[in-house]
Amino acid sequence: MIEERDLVLSNGIHCIADIHSELYARLKKESQAVTPWVYQKQYGKFVTYFVAVIIFLSLIKKLAFMYYDSSEEFLPEKKNSPTTPSVFLARIMTKLVAFNRYICYRKFPTLIFSYLGIPTSVGTFLVVMATTLYTLLYCFVPHPFYRPCAGFGSPPLSVRAGIMAISLVSFVFSLSGKINVIGWLVGLSYEKINIYHQWASILCLFFSWVHVIPFLRQARHEGGYERMHQRWKASDMWRSGVPPILFLNLLWLSSLPIARRHFYEIFLQLHWILAVGFYISLFYHVYPELNSHMYLVATIVVWFAQLFYRLAVKGYLRPGRSFMASTIANVSIVGEGCVELIVKDVDMAYSPGQHIFVRTIDKDIISNHPFSIFPSAKYPGGIKMLIRAQKGFSKRLYESNDDMKKILIDGPYGGIERDIRSFTNVYLICSGSGISTCLPFLQKYGPILHKTNLEVITLDWVVRHREDISWIRDEICTLSNNLRQLFLDGTIVVRIYVCSDSTVPGIIKTFPQTADTASDQSDLAKREKDTEFGQDDTESNSTFDKSNNEYKGLITIIPSKPDLNQVINDYQIGFRNCFICSGSDSLRYTVGNSVAGLQAKVFSNKNVEECYLHSESFGY
Ligand SMILES: Cc1cc2nc3c(=O)[nH]c(=O)nc-3n(C[C@H](O)[C@H](O)[C@H](O)COP(=O)(O)OP(=O)(O)OC[C@H]3O[C@@H](n4cnc5c(N)ncnc54)[C@H](O)[C@@H]3O)c2cc1C
Repeated sequence: MIEERDLVLSNGIHCIADIHSELYARLKKESQAVTPWVYQKQYGKFVTYFVAVIIFLSLIKKLAFMYYDSSEEFLPEKKNSPTTPSVFLARIMTKLVAFNRYICYRKFPTLIFSYLGIPTSVGTFLVVMATTLYTLLYCFVPHPFYRPCAGFGSPPLSVRAGIMAISLVSFVFSLSGKINVIGWLVGLSYEKINIYHQWASILCLFFSWVHVIPFLRQARHEGGYERMHQRWKASDMWRSGVPPILFLNLLWLSSLPIARRHFYEIFLQLHWILAVGFYISLFYHVYPELNSHMYLVATIVVWFAQLFYRLAVKGYLRPGRSFMASTIANVSIVGEGCVELIVKDVDMAYSPGQHIFVRTIDKDIISNHPFSIFPSAKYPGGIKMLIRAQKGFSKRLYESNDDMKKILIDGPYGGIERDIRSFTNVYLICSGSGISTCLPFLQKYGPILHKTNLEVITLDWVVRHREDISWIRDEICTLSNNLRQLFLDGTIVVRIYVCSDSTVPGIIKTFPQTADTASDQSDLAKREKDTEFGQDDTESNSTFDKSNNEYKGLITIIPSKPDLNQVINDYQIGFRNCFICSGSDSLRYTVGNSVAGLQAKVFSNKNVEECYLHSESFGY
């Protein structure tokens, strides 16, 4: 039956029947000479080189900004110094950076893109697309895809796609770690780099199928399904290839955004089990072909090094701390759907914008959740977390009547890669619990403002209900008490927008920030007249005000939903500007696009050197 369907080449040779003939052996040799099997392993290296170049360029960028932040060139007294070649070069660089940000900070419509798992940031999207295009071209441009007969050797397309998939495995695993060497080199923390983990995995899955399909197709072409069946029975490589691709497909399916959104815990537990299965079965499948198992050896070395570093430096094995030492956290409800966790004593250095992973020692011990941290004003030296009740762990925490919980802390992770002190203007823009990311910048840099280059810190916080302000009542009180003068002279500006108070939805009611103190004072007076604490007659506001008279007139409450685009365009942009945003998708979308637009000022205004954006999302 197989013989009947045997493929006959133009020179009369039968791909199956003539397999032991001399001519067949000669043709096989010729085919291998033209397209050597062993050469295909170079394609794995081409992928590695490409990723290495991206990492290297990002490292250069990181080092350049580190140097730039520590450089004194930006100090006001140095600004007017004569133009030297290096200053000239620096100017060109700032323009190039601004041009890059003009494109890369832009955001795609978040709803559709994040639903499909596509990067919403144009910059990330471009990197992902460049990698995809490069690998696709390397895979599909070289010919031939097939050898005339399967007996002449594996289809070159299959071999190079397979080796490209394996070379991606090391990056997929390395990028998965909470501490990861690539993230450290490029200056991105794990939650920001996770999108590259996801896309490297998708490419790996794609090339795995490109590896498989030509084998099946060629066997079918030569001898139909019987030939395929025969190959399956005869070839260990065929059979051993099934488990890794099965694991890889399951990994992909269980990681789809919809699965992560609804079954995060199941996804998480399944993910590492499937990943272990994938790794072991892949090793078995490829060993020792073309030495490709060396990619997997490198993978495991890097992965374990990262894991060990994480446990020793951040996690439960930290020296000086007993193994899995738990901490007590105070739990209190601070408003509708929001619970506060305070750990009074933390043996941990952390910086603004960072988060920790929290595990409660109870029936939820298996789950581990990230929450942003900021200094507690009530318990100096302690940390505070604001947790919005979702459907799982956070809801159970919110509904539990416990006022204390034993927790395990892992972290801190994340944060901002730039040195805030080197900027002149910091704009913190957040909504809801995104305040946990933004507030610590004000808490840390407000008191030391005069020892830095900072001239103004602005916080714009959008909340749904007026009661939400009480989440950070203690911190706001402390800040306004301690930094009263800075609030008064407009060096620190805090505006809170209460959406549920909107009389006209979407109305813009912003207060321009003025540069000189005199107009600041008049502006402040105007603001006090309009909407300051205590001026509004709603019950919640006056309650808030009565207990906090000391910051009356210091913080502006605006009873409407802001047009953030306009809020940002109204900012009095300084010399070096840092925008930090955290909150809803729509907030990040608007801020990303607005700050991208602001890059034009770097070209049009010589008093604007930089507009840097750091945005935090509570997901990955
Ligand atoms: C870096 C970072 C910082 C965060 N900081 C805060 C914060 O300060 N305050 C706050 O209220 N929320 C914060 N979150 C979000 C918070 O981690 C999730 O809301 C919480 O884990 C949901 O738990 P749940 O079981 O109730 O969620 P579910 O109702 O099961 O799911 C709700 C959403 O949370 C996601 N989620 C569930 N579990 C996790 C997990 N372990 N890790 C990441 N995402 C998860 C799901 O994908 C889903 O989209 C942060 C998230 C990240 C990634």
